[in-house]
Amino acid sequence: MRKKIVAGNWKMNKTFEDADELMSEIMDNLEQIDLSRDIQLIICPPFPYLEMCTDYANDSYFAVGAQNVCDQARGAFTGEVSAEILRSLELVDYCIVGHSERRTYYNETDAIVAAKVNQLLAQDIRPIVCCGEVLEEREANKQFEVVERQITDGLFHLSAIDFADIIIAYEPVWAIGTGRTATPDQAQEMHAFIRSLIAKKYGDEVAQETSILYGGSCKPSNAKELFANPDVDGGLIGGASLNANDFIAIAQSF
Ligand code: PEP
Repeated sequence: MRKKIVAGNWKMNKTFEDADELMSEIMDNLEQIDLSRDIQLIICPPFPYLEMCTDYANDSYFAVGAQNVCDQARGAFTGEVSAEILRSLELVDYCIVGHSERRTYYNETDAIVAAKVNQLLAQDIRPIVCCGEVLEEREANKQFEVVERQITDGLFHLSAIDFADIIIAYEPVWAIGTGRTATPDQAQEMHAFIRSLIAKKYGDEVAQETSILYGGSCKPSNAKELFANPDVDGGLIGGASLNANDFIAIAQSF
């Protein structure tokens, strides 16, 4: 059965001291989560805090991820961080790729997403690949076309074996940080569509094993309804992951 996952994307927030405090609050409250449900928690802090977070990540249900990676293997790329560098930290096992903020502010194209995914897989780091339409695209009923292009161009060059390491996050851009959440029906409809694309390309078995997360103003008050859908396998959480109680409450919403 595919994993249920709650991943926190801290984005560019928190000083080191505040981040350390948030991590220890999360760890202090982990026992509230029903671990028999096989839930994977992932924290994605800013790069400089990765090692501090991995120091806490000594339990198999709690892991650490980066928020970005370079599309090149190594060399003269000032300011970039490679998958090889992430791997050398040993416990960084996940990395977000193709977040809408990176697509919008840093011109991350589907081709760049594909290159980053390749770099990560070569280092045994599992990519959490974001996709999702902007408001004008939804209003023009183009959301399926947009997401299909992002998934096809970003991921469908992979073999079925490599694809098995992919986690997908559907994040409608109009819902990210806006307080406006997709309805459970809108989320389910898109997640089922994404799973059908995977089934067409790689077969039913791979599609059924792929975790597809929802992201976009997910919080304790709406997580239960969203996660109750058969194709919603958890969430990629921005704002609410900056508060330990909210993050834990979301992880208890399955
Ligand atoms: C995100 O940026 O991945 C996200 C889902 O943000 P928020 O939860 O704040 O909408």
